[in-house]
Parts: sequence; C-alpha cells; structure tokens
Amino acid sequence: MTDESRSLAERPQGTRRREQTARADTEPAPRPRSPARGHFLATARGTDLTIEAIAGIAGAVNLPMVSRACPVCGSDSQYRVFKEASFDASRWDRFAFASRKTPEYMHYRLLECGRCDVLYANPLPTRESLEAAYREADFDSGEEARYAGDSYAEFLPAILAKLSRRAAALDIGTGDGAFLEHLLGSGFERVVGVEPSRAPVEAARPSVRGLIRQSPFRPSDFERGSFSLITCFQTLEHVYEPLELCRSAFELLHPGGALFLVCHDRRALSARVLGTRSPIFDIEHLQLFSRASLSYALGNAGYDDVGTHAVVNRYPLSYWARLFPLPARAKGAALGALKQSGLGRVPLALAAGNFAAIGYKR
Ligand SMILES: [Zn+2]
Repeated sequence: MTDESRSLAERPQGTRRREQTARADTEPAPRPRSPARGHFLATARGTDLTIEAIAGIAGAVNLPMVSRACPVCGSDSQYRVFKEASFDASRWDRFAFASRKTPEYMHYRLLECGRCDVLYANPLPTRESLEAAYREADFDSGEEARYAGDSYAEFLPAILAKLSRRAAALDIGTGDGAFLEHLLGSGFERVVGVEPSRAPVEAARPSVRGLIRQSPFRPSDFERGSFSLITCFQTLEHVYEPLELCRSAFELLHPGGALFLVCHDRRALSARVLGTRSPIFDIEHLQLFSRASLSYALGNAGYDDVGTHAVVNRYPLSYWARLFPLPARAKGAALGALKQSGLGRVPLALAAGNFAAIGYKR
C-alpha cells in the first residue's frame, strides 16, 4: 500500500520526528513500528534516538525469529530450501507492511513443501511482532484498492448464483473497505470487514467506515454459521496460520455458503520469469501459494466444489510500472515521465499472476 515517493530516504523527515515526539508525550513507551524496530525499541526506550537512527541501528540487531512446520499441510520434513533469506532490517519502515507498496525485494528464508506445493517462510518473526507491525502499517493506495475490488467483483455474480441465501458477508483484510461497497450492492443482509491496520480504516469512505472492525481476524468475534460469503483478498499470504483461517471461515459459514480468496500465484508465468525479482517475494508474505497448494488447503479445511481461476487485474499504468523490476533510478524516471504525460493514470488490464479460489460449504 504505497507510493514511490514515500521511500524511506525521500519521506519528509520532520513529519516523522514530530510523530515520535507527540507519541512520547502521550504514551509511556513508543509502539513498535516493525519487528526489527520493535525489538530494538525494547532497549532504546527513554533515549532521544530518532526513528531514522533507530532504523539504521536495527539493521545490525538480531530479529527474534521462530521456526514452524508447513502452514498448509503440517509436514516438517518434506521440504527443500527454495531461497535463503534476503533482507536488510535497516530498510524496514512503516510502509514495509503496507499493501500495494513499491517492491523492496526482501524475503525470509523460503522452503518449498514437497507435499502441498506451498512456499513458506521459515524461520519467521514472532506473531506478536508482526501484529504490531501491521497495526502501524501505513496506507496510501485507496485508488488501487478500488481498482482491485472492481476486478474481484467480476466473480461475484457466479458465486452469488450458487449461494443458498444472502445472510451476512465478511471481508477479511478489508483495507479501506473498497470491496464492502460491492458486497453492500449484492443484497446481503449484513456486511462487515476486519482490518488490522489503523491507517486504511481511517482512510475508508464514510459509507463503509462504520462496517469495519479494526483488529486482526479473530473467529471468536463472530457467530458460527452466520455468514453466507467470506472474502479474503491478498491476505492469506500475510497471516500466521493460513489453514486455520480457512477452517475458521468454514465454521463461520452456514451450509450453502462460500469462501472466496484471491492470492498471488507463485507458479504464474510472471513469477517464473522474474524469479525473486517478482514483487510477490516480500517480507510481508509468510507463504506463497500455487493453485495446487491453495486447493489443498481448502480441501483440508472441509470445502467442497473447490475451483481456481485466473484474475485479470485492471490498474493504472503507473501502478504496473511501480511493480516492474527496474533499477531504482530508471524506475523513478519512468514514473516521472508517466506522471508528467498523464499516461500513468490510463488503466491497463493484465493477468499478472493472481488467482481466485472459491470453495463451498455443503
Ligand atoms: Zn505442505
């Protein structure tokens, strides 16, 4: 969720220093901004270090990491190392955990599961440090969220036709609630979204802001069997336990309801051609699915009639350019030219490596 102009180096320094001072006045301790900084801040409290200085020092600090088995099938032995870790904690900032940001080409050590085909980060930061990072993640991608929502909404008529009724709908990881508007227009009795980051909720349109619960997704917050449709877009890669999310959604659905997911496809042509220069390789992504691995997860979670479909995304040209793996200077020049000419706002539809997966509860 970000913009080329907001890279750490270019962001206005004064703004963040003021934020830091204001927080120190009102709160006993600064809230961690990212796992790296959170760890360092634990020892930096009470000093007058600026965020910039802390970010620089955090690069040399060991991040607390934990190990795990495959988050889709539970296997802890059938893997190969896909890529060793590549990240520089000093480059982590509040946009590192934002959606649709400029790629940073950083990722954890990635294992490829031989049983279910998922790529998963192992080791990875603790759940608590990631939740803190998301709470504070920044957001400036409202326009792109709307484009994405419009693309995903093209699947709704076919799904709606198969639902047994239209009771409640839930959008997990709803961001600024762009998709809630589509759900509201689809005839559901009740529509709700959950979003862990504060900034996108604050940026939500007034028509949907009241429908968004700002918190991580917690199944216990909702009534079992009460939902007809649960949607979750570009979010399953970010959660600690993706299989648990699919199972929890299954419990929340009534028979005849559906789960509708959109994920990056790690086996898409773009990912295979670009390798780890593909923007899907990112420290925000704790796992990356193929159609096979997500179908495995949905089957494992109890869903029937599971299908996967390519997604055609329609975005402004400047957004596609930002994702493209160019050297920073060339990318800056290209984006500048697109902006100056007005071409950057021209929408372009591409099947760029996302897929939809839909499963039904019988
Ligand atoms: Zn697996």
